[in-house]
Amino acid sequence: MSFLLSEQHRMIQRLACDVAQKEIAPQAAQWDHTETFPKVVIQKLAALGLMGVCVPEVYGGSGLDHFSYVLALEEIAVACASTAAIMSVNNSLVCEPLKLFGNDVQKKTFLTPLARGEKLGCFCLSEPNAGSDAGNQQTVAVKKGDRFILSGTKNFITNGPQADIAIVFAVTDKAQKKKGVSAFIVDKHQKGVEVGKVEKKMGIKASGCCQLIFNEAEVSVQNLLGEEGQGLKIALRTLDSGRIGIGAQAVGIARAAFEAASAYAKERHQFGKAISEFQAIQWILADMATQIDAARLLVHRAAHLDDEGRSFTKEAAMAKLFASETAMKVTTDAVQVYGGYGYSKEYPVERFFRDAKITEIYEGTSEIQRLVIASQVLR
Ligand SMILES: Cc1cc2nc3c(=O)[nH]c(=O)nc-3n(C[C@H](O)[C@H](O)[C@H](O)COP(=O)(O)OP(=O)(O)OC[C@H]3O[C@@H](n4cnc5c(N)ncnc54)[C@H](O)[C@@H]3O)c2cc1C
Repeated sequence: MSFLLSEQHRMIQRLACDVAQKEIAPQAAQWDHTETFPKVVIQKLAALGLMGVCVPEVYGGSGLDHFSYVLALEEIAVACASTAAIMSVNNSLVCEPLKLFGNDVQKKTFLTPLARGEKLGCFCLSEPNAGSDAGNQQTVAVKKGDRFILSGTKNFITNGPQADIAIVFAVTDKAQKKKGVSAFIVDKHQKGVEVGKVEKKMGIKASGCCQLIFNEAEVSVQNLLGEEGQGLKIALRTLDSGRIGIGAQAVGIARAAFEAASAYAKERHQFGKAISEFQAIQWILADMATQIDAARLLVHRAAHLDDEGRSFTKEAAMAKLFASETAMKVTTDAVQVYGGYGYSKEYPVERFFRDAKITEIYEGTSEIQRLVIASQVLR
């Protein structure tokens, strides 16, 4: 792993930075305020190949590596954490499992329009009683001839209100417990699939999030992803990669807060000098910069291991854990650097602070990341 970016990696970083700063950053506060899904910008990301970064070109993607993906995602998250969440679900949680476990027909039918951004995906694992304990699935899929009939409720589904295609996990054989869960590719617009409660969230307010209710939704056996009973394995493998993306999102949010706080510290004067001249403020900024760099290095290491086909479960969990806790710490400190103005919605750090929190929760809470890391280091 080199600390220097290749020309190809610099190009994708520049491409994402350009669209992020020109098209996304100027509107992010307004989307947050009005809770508006940034549809037009998602279409722009799609046109740039950013909705299917790691999908082979033959299936409509950009055919790039996971390292390129995290470089791009960090840039988008600097501008808008909501847009980064939408992008990361489509890339990491929907395209990735279809790429890894789908057959050729499924890839042509579902992966291609998702990677091109013609369709949007969502990932339906969490349920009212299956959050951290994802194996405790209550949604069932009963086989009837050449169909499965899906019934159950999925909770907190990012992109749920806007999505066209859902990856849904459901129990096909209760006796097999965790080995009795299967994964399905479901048309969200079909009969038997309804949008339930739409969440009012603390942060990432421009991304949609809702319950999805499956009421005897009929799914063809051809839409079974992987083998019957492989569902939980598919979910966990997907989350391993996804966590690297959440790490990149967290680094982006932290970077936005750091950049805002350091600029503000140079402008704001108290006691006749810029507050950046006070050592107390300098140390806060120095710690922020150090923690962000460390978080980014962990994210890059995990992405490299994924690209090299090496085991990366522990490294992905470490990257997500450290980066998300860094985002929370850095955004909290950024509010402090702004003083009372940091508490006001007129300044951006209040939004960064609210946006950071989700990175400690979704795709496995910090406690679950520690469980994953502990189980690996105690082997
Ligand atoms: C905005 C948002 C978007 C989301 N998007 C999606 C999505 O697109 N798809 C999807 O499937 N899910 C999604 N989720 C769900 C998310 O992944 C879960 O909320 C998360 O995994 C935690 O589950 P829970 O909320 O049920 O909390 P619980 O599992 O009930 O946890 C409550 C607390 O107990 C702790 N805890 C639980 N078990 C243990 C343990 N064994 N040891 C120590 N501590 C433990 C947790 O860390 C947490 O602090 C989203 C959630 C939110 C809020």
